[in-house]
Amino acid sequence: MHKIAIVGAGPAGYFAALALHNLQSDDRAFAIDMIERLPTPWGLVRSGVAPDHPKIKTVAKTFEKIAADPNFRLFANVEIGHEITVAQLSEKYDAVIIATGSALGKKLRIPGEELRGSMSAADFVPWYNAHPDFSDLEVSLDCDTAVVIGAGNVAMDVARMLALEPSELDPTDTADHAITVFKKSNVRDVYISARRGPEHAAFTSPELRELGKLQHTNVIMQREDIDAAILRVGDAPEKDVKSNLDAMFLIANSPSTNHERSMHFLFEHTPREIIGTDRVEGVIYSTPNGDVTVKCGLVITAIGYQAAGIDGVPYENGKVVNKDGRVKENLYVVGWAKRGPSGVIGTNKSDAAAVMELLVSDLGAPKNQQGITDLISNHKVVDQAAWQRINEAEIAAGEVHGKPRVKSALREELMNLAQL
Ligand code: NAP
Repeated sequence: MHKIAIVGAGPAGYFAALALHNLQSDDRAFAIDMIERLPTPWGLVRSGVAPDHPKIKTVAKTFEKIAADPNFRLFANVEIGHEITVAQLSEKYDAVIIATGSALGKKLRIPGEELRGSMSAADFVPWYNAHPDFSDLEVSLDCDTAVVIGAGNVAMDVARMLALEPSELDPTDTADHAITVFKKSNVRDVYISARRGPEHAAFTSPELRELGKLQHTNVIMQREDIDAAILRVGDAPEKDVKSNLDAMFLIANSPSTNHERSMHFLFEHTPREIIGTDRVEGVIYSTPNGDVTVKCGLVITAIGYQAAGIDGVPYENGKVVNKDGRVKENLYVVGWAKRGPSGVIGTNKSDAAAVMELLVSDLGAPKNQQGITDLISNHKVVDQAAWQRINEAEIAAGEVHGKPRVKSALREELMNLAQL
């Protein structure tokens, strides 16, 4: 049997495990060890997907089915890169797959970005999703206006979370600490700014269409922005562009509503400077009509991600250096760490399947190595059984409150639930 290590227990890692499972045959079998830095698996399904999108999270059922395979083992709460190196894993396994995603938010690199009240979605999103590394993040929603920079689905998630009536979060698995802050929020206007026109926005149309269903938030797009974009794309726009513009046309032409909270879309607004003395006071944009200042007390940038490095793995431009997923020797990469932060969760399935075919074609005879066991003798490992204890405890805690789960946001709490 070949022993394979997967580093990172997010969607890309699980889909790599699934692909390997599907490539087994009478004379080829795989024992898979999945290693994860956090005490909990599921990656962005736990700490990225917006809490008001529970349907997207049902993919976790697939992950748990993969984990139920007798040849699959979870080693969570084990970090690779320092005490345990990638080189050690490479020695002890027939192949090692990096599936660690892209955790760092890209920077705007404009003046004022470091002011208090300016942060990246790469911090804000895991904060409201109870990621233990972000439970201490200082989030102050004491201002009336927030700006979200970027025109992708992450920006949309962030803007929606800020512009929702907070009681709408009660039946979700939003971190308790975040619900408390959202309920005290003074934010009533959220601006989501795109540097290009509507036809270039990276939102996807289901997310745009869903905005029409918000019951407590005005969604405001200027008709002239959308009409001009429709003119610019002409008669035969690409399918995705057409669906987006159709959805935006509907929003821009919807009867106006009169809720307390509003989400406004600004197009062709390129951020030039974040202003303020000791905290954010506004954003200066360059626009086709000259400079425009939007006064605000909070700026969240959602302009993409880059991978955090792991010692022993080559990185360039925020990604692992690779050719079709091959890195070097018996090292492979899948998911956002391989191709950059693009695509929805399902994109990782076909992506991982293609890399696993290459991996399998490279394999020699199994070397029958012993795997990670002797490297983790002094670690408190959250294995699949311990994770199930956490999972069941969180779900039980949620049941009383009509939520899918109440997530623990502290490592110690998670380790207690794991009974370790
Ligand atoms: P994204 O889709 O790549 O969008 C990034 C946005 O940031 C783009 O609008 C880009 O504009 C803008 N941007 C980049 N650099 C900028 C700069 N210097 N100044 C101003 N704007 C800048 O990235 P994402 O929103 O982080 O999402 C990552 C992936 O996850 C995407 O594939 C997304 O669809 C997916 N996702 C899906 C869901 C869902 O299905 N519900 C939810 C969240 C995320 P330009 O185009 O002008 O560069």
